[in-house]
Amino acid sequence: MSAAGYVGRFAPSPTGPLHAGSLVAALASWLDARAHGGRWLLRIEDVDSPRCVPGADRLIIEQLAACGLQADEAPLWQSARGAAYQQALDRLIAAGWAYPCGCTRRDIELALRSRGTPKPRGAELVYPGTCREGLHGRTARAVRMRTSLGAPAEEAEIEWHDRRLGTQRQRLCDAVGDFVLKRADGLWAYQLAVVVDDATQGITHVVRGEDLADNTPRQILLQRALGLRTPSYLHTPLVLGADGEKLSKQNGATALDLRDPLAAVQEAARVLGLAVDANDLGGFLAGAVNAWRRTLA
Ligand SMILES: [Zn+2]
Repeated sequence: MSAAGYVGRFAPSPTGPLHAGSLVAALASWLDARAHGGRWLLRIEDVDSPRCVPGADRLIIEQLAACGLQADEAPLWQSARGAAYQQALDRLIAAGWAYPCGCTRRDIELALRSRGTPKPRGAELVYPGTCREGLHGRTARAVRMRTSLGAPAEEAEIEWHDRRLGTQRQRLCDAVGDFVLKRADGLWAYQLAVVVDDATQGITHVVRGEDLADNTPRQILLQRALGLRTPSYLHTPLVLGADGEKLSKQNGATALDLRDPLAAVQEAARVLGLAVDANDLGGFLAGAVNAWRRTLA
């Protein structure tokens, strides 16, 4: 693989300090960039502002630095990127990909019920397409992305390759439905922000936790609709909490102990299956880059 053009990133949401699980994703993306001789960038995904904790962004940057993970450019804050997201949204609307939706959650539940079995997707509902052909006299609330643009059914499936998980497929119209790009509360949806920012930052390789793999087909659809390059994807193993769910603040994740960054980095490397023998942080990271490089074939 050509190293010259490699640009990777770590993109945490500042909903709290880094914990053991998020450090695994950070370390993996850093190692992959360093092993390719590439650049590693940082993006603060604070687009869902009600969930963000003031000061968590600065704390995360400090934690990464304490672990020896230094970004090659100043971080990008999504909260400063509204104009770029609006421009992308305008293009999607003009091209017929995006449309206003006037439905409340209750409207969506009723529409799904009238068609038979509602298909829950976690807390999300697969949107039934009510506003695809117009608002039916209601006021626009959100803006949605069309998951098939009159395409034949067999072309509505997104197929993509993950370096660890292999070939993946998702029929967006069935699995997700027309998804939100701009929320009823005026906030930008994660999917649009990620795609626009990956393009702006010139990201060639996305390395992130496996919990985000399910977002990839939506992001690829947006890349195609906006004429943007699809990066290479690698989704890393998750650290599980005592309840078997992804480690999070809700199931016992504690902030990394900055008094012993080497121990934190060693534990993250262990999750990634890297065996490195070194007793100082710099030596350990250098050894981890070599160990990671050996896994690239
Ligand atoms: Zn609607």
